[in-house]
Amino acid sequence: MAGLVAAAWARELGSQVVVFEKGDRAGGSMLLSSGVVWRHRTLDEFRADCPGGEPQLQRPIVEELDPGLDWLESLGAVVTERETGNERTMGRRFDPSRLTAALVRAAADVRLGQPFAEADVLATGGFGVRLARERGLLLRASPWSEGDGLAYALARGADLSAGMDEFYGRNLPAAVPEECFVAAAQVYGVLALVLDEEGREFFPGRPSWSETDLVQATARLPTRAAWYVVDGRTLRRRVRERTVAEIVAVARAVGGDVRPAEELPFELPRSPKLVEPPLLAIRVLPAVTHTTGGLRIDEHARVLRPDGSAIPGLHAAGADAGGIVTGGYGSGLAAALVFGRRAAESALGG
Ligand SMILES: Cc1cc2nc3c(=O)[nH]c(=O)nc-3n(C[C@H](O)[C@H](O)[C@H](O)COP(=O)(O)OP(=O)(O)OC[C@H]3O[C@@H](n4cnc5c(N)ncnc54)[C@H](O)[C@@H]3O)c2cc1C
Repeated sequence: MAGLVAAAWARELGSQVVVFEKGDRAGGSMLLSSGVVWRHRTLDEFRADCPGGEPQLQRPIVEELDPGLDWLESLGAVVTERETGNERTMGRRFDPSRLTAALVRAAADVRLGQPFAEADVLATGGFGVRLARERGLLLRASPWSEGDGLAYALARGADLSAGMDEFYGRNLPAAVPEECFVAAAQVYGVLALVLDEEGREFFPGRPSWSETDLVQATARLPTRAAWYVVDGRTLRRRVRERTVAEIVAVARAVGGDVRPAEELPFELPRSPKLVEPPLLAIRVLPAVTHTTGGLRIDEHARVLRPDGSAIPGLHAAGADAGGIVTGGYGSGLAAALVFGRRAAESALGG
């Protein structure tokens, strides 16, 4: 997303530009995403949700996303919904494959299967693949984001942002193929009794609406797995457009461990969440979508050194840039759009 945006915007500003793409297809995780490019309604709400993020990086997302969305539409990207379905946020939902196609068309020179050697704008999608491998987590993203942009910039003296151990992800019932990344996400942790594999409640309080905190807490468990236990009433409840029962049915269909709660290998704690039979238990495994820590940038997407000075000619956008949503969750597509455009402007000396 960020690399194609930067290239398309640089071309619109009159520059020649090449996108080097390591993978055998364009679009990265954007192509696999739900395509909802969104922002918090106000900077204060963004700050409340992501208190560790840098305000000077959060402000442009709140202020510049809407013109960015109009620009995407002007390129021919197709909007499928003009609401996010979440009262806390605003934005538009794009058809991911047509969004990718529109950006590739506008970027013009996209060279597949070619990792970058030198770059003005780093946009390699963070280091989620490496993080997932090192921490024994599932990957819920395109398979090429190993952290090449990060390594390149560190070798040139770059500093790191806060939150290097944080990631955005979802709890999945099993390792699933790419086409199931969205449908298989078990996104009702807030309604479930959440237990570790010994039957203990490990998450203090209520998960945030995005459940990113719950996923990260699951990833810190020694077995990196948890049980979501739900009752008959919860199974009928809706999470966005689906009922919990429908989401659990996907877990079962993809080979997840879904069983009557009485078959759990421990005694179930008493809970006001478990009232009406049947009680079902779903085993979930944390999956990394992308890292949210990364290179430290300024508001012009320039990569910074530890002393706060900018490394000449080096920019980062998308998940390569960290410190925007630290401590919480924000739209990765929105950050890629806003800072992809800012990186292009800055790289062209604007
Ligand atoms: C299932 C799923 C659902 C999602 N839903 C949403 C959503 O609804 N809303 C939202 O805001 N976000 C969503 N996301 C997250 C969103 O896709 C990412 O935040 C966004 O794509 C990040 O943009 P990026 O440019 O940093 O990375 P990407 O879009 O992944 O692009 C990075 C690119 O860099 C390439 N690359 C890696 N290394 C190199 C190298 N050495 N040389 C050249 N190229 C390289 C990769 O192949 C990839 O094409 C979702 C993600 C997934 C997987």
